[in-house]
Amino acid sequence: MSRIPRIVILGAGYGGIVTALRLQKQLNYNEADVTLVNKHDYHYITTHLHMPAAGTDKPDNARVNILKLIDEFKIDFVKSTVVQIRPHDKKVILEEGVLSYDYLVVGLGGEPETFGIPGLKEYAMNIRSINSVRLIREHIEYQFAKFKREPSRTEALTFVVGGAGFTGIEFVGELADRVPELCREFDVDPELVKIYNVEAAPTALPGFDPELVEYAMDVLKKKGVTFKIGVAIKECTPEGVLLATGEEIRTNTVVWTGGIRGNRMLEEAGFETMRGRIKVDEHLRAPGHDNIYVIGDCSIVMNPEGRPYPPTAQISIQQAEVCAHNLVASIRGDQLKTFEYQSKGTVASLGRGEAIGIVGTKKVKGGAAALMKKLIDLRYLYIIGGLPLVIRKGKF
Ligand code: FAD
Ligand code: NAD
Repeated sequence: MSRIPRIVILGAGYGGIVTALRLQKQLNYNEADVTLVNKHDYHYITTHLHMPAAGTDKPDNARVNILKLIDEFKIDFVKSTVVQIRPHDKKVILEEGVLSYDYLVVGLGGEPETFGIPGLKEYAMNIRSINSVRLIREHIEYQFAKFKREPSRTEALTFVVGGAGFTGIEFVGELADRVPELCREFDVDPELVKIYNVEAAPTALPGFDPELVEYAMDVLKKKGVTFKIGVAIKECTPEGVLLATGEEIRTNTVVWTGGIRGNRMLEEAGFETMRGRIKVDEHLRAPGHDNIYVIGDCSIVMNPEGRPYPPTAQISIQQAEVCAHNLVASIRGDQLKTFEYQSKGTVASLGRGEAIGIVGTKKVKGGAAALMKKLIDLRYLYIIGGLPLVIRKGKF
């Protein structure tokens, strides 16, 4: 390769933006051409999206202009949607044009997994992007306004969240905080509002510490959330949801937080995938493609017990750091690093001033956990934008 190698990064989420920022720092002048492609001109902080979805925060607080994060002299930013990856031609097809690459980084994130459940694609909403959460927020407000016009239609005030994983739990916590404000604004009796969180597994937050799960459920129940645990959503219809027990919950609002899968484009490109995600090699490359790195929710990394690590921002950031190192090492002919995930723990919000978590081996809950969550959020802002971004976006 006598010309300058071309690196193309697809997606400016957690994985993509951190890879770009690390390359920007580590590459020497004219060592590589780096292009970052993203469908929006902003990076969104996915881990905050439950708040603008419920309306407890503004959508703008969960996004950052990409040109404010990268150095345009070092990284070319292309605002476009990727429509196809052609690994054998080393090309990526965008809505407007084609990009050729020598090295590709796929960080396109996940898509909602609907498991083929009828009606979910058509009638449920998802917490996935700034635009998807704007829809949820506006829809919820509209239901309150609608109820005032037709007070007999109480289904307008019933909200169903499908799945009590971390996304579902964090969202119902925020929604329960928002309801009193909406009731005041629209002169609605709070007793009429129902929030159901439906979970198919025998417990909320399956696999998480049972004592903390119990604490989380107690906090959320006190805020007005009704749990239906061990009951799967079987169908979603224009009138509501049908549960495996035969019960129907009539509602105009279903938010599906039942899990995620990888991006469909990877299957279409001919990669071997498991639910749209590529099981990467120890250096984070797609098997059989030494020049294609796959990171974040599109990738699968196995834990020592042979089970996939859950797709999180935490693992995406760590992958991005190793991915950037390995790209630079490939160009320089140096040794690649092996990726080893170091879990720092998990902290989940339960709404205002409340959270649960495990940090190291320590369980945290309540205000202390909420503070911890705040610090994790600030740390991320610092990683991508330094102190100026912490001051601009960090809520103190
Ligand atoms: P993403 O961050 O989803 O980014 C993908 C990027 O690709 C986006 O910018 C998108 O616009 C872009 N893109 C997608 N398709 C295209 C296309 N066709 N063309 C161009 N661009 C495209 N994890 C944690 O570790 N801690 C948490 O507290 C936490 N909280 C969460 C809270 C919520 C509400 C949710 C939904 C998730 C949370 N997660 C958390 C999980 C975490 O957000 C994801 O694992 C993480 O965002 C994955 O990063 P990523 O880079 O793979 O994808
Ligand atoms: P998930 O896969 O973790 O949870 C989905 C839940 O939906 C599961 O509990 C599942 O049993 C349930 N479900 C599936 N089908 C169902 C059905 N038909 N009816 C009812 N329930 C059903 O998905 P998620 O919560 O969106 O999380 C995605 C990833 O993001 C995970 O890795 C998670 O750890 C991570 N995340 C982390 C945080 C945090 O650390 N604070 C917050 C949000 C998300």
